[in-house]
Amino acid sequence: MKQTLRVIELFRSIQGESTWAGMPCAFIRLAGCNLSCSYCDTRYALEEPGREMSLDEAFGSIEALTTRLVCITGGEPLLQAATPALAGRLLASGHTVLVETNGTLDISTLPSGTVRVMDVKCPGSGECGKMMMSNLEVLGAQDEVKFVLCDRRDFDWAAGFVVDHHLLSRCHVLFSPAVGRPQSRPSVAQEDSVTPRRLAEWILESGLDLRLQLPLHKMLWPEKSRGA
Ligand code: SF4
Repeated sequence: MKQTLRVIELFRSIQGESTWAGMPCAFIRLAGCNLSCSYCDTRYALEEPGREMSLDEAFGSIEALTTRLVCITGGEPLLQAATPALAGRLLASGHTVLVETNGTLDISTLPSGTVRVMDVKCPGSGECGKMMMSNLEVLGAQDEVKFVLCDRRDFDWAAGFVVDHHLLSRCHVLFSPAVGRPQSRPSVAQEDSVTPRRLAEWILESGLDLRLQLPLHKMLWPEKSRGA
């Protein structure tokens, strides 16, 4: 059976998130998502159909971007049946492959060696509680779990989740502020809304070895809504 992917955009940029931040990276953004987060900054990937590409065409287009690091993102890339096959082809040709996923679908379908960067959605996202909890059991040391935080309530919720599920002994754990995005609760007191500095202070106060992650690509190219 011919495998195809619906592709929103393909580009070369600097990886702005994850422990791979700062590295040149080829991005393939796939169409569609099964969530609608309050702070989503890639709504176009949810609303546009994307261009259908064969697996060969997608693979060749990524190879042409000449980076060792590749990020398969969305939208939600695991909605597309050919995503594991694309990750496998890229791994076999020597790439480091990151797959960014919202955690609601089975991440064990991805081939061994894939770096899974999995969101856990906090209350402020409006999509909390939809993740596939069994995904936590398959996380490995190279995988990364990311919490995007809107406010102090999200921080407390996420810190509790990290402790309850022993995430720090399983994988990398990233806490990122929903900077420059609409806040989910306009009623949040000023001192409880997230800023990079407040998040840094909350992390230090918590005593947990959480990694502060600031979206580097947004600092580099604040004017770009796509392709960065
Ligand atoms: S999971 Fe990601 S792509 Fe989907 S709505 Fe949430 S932020 Fe947007």
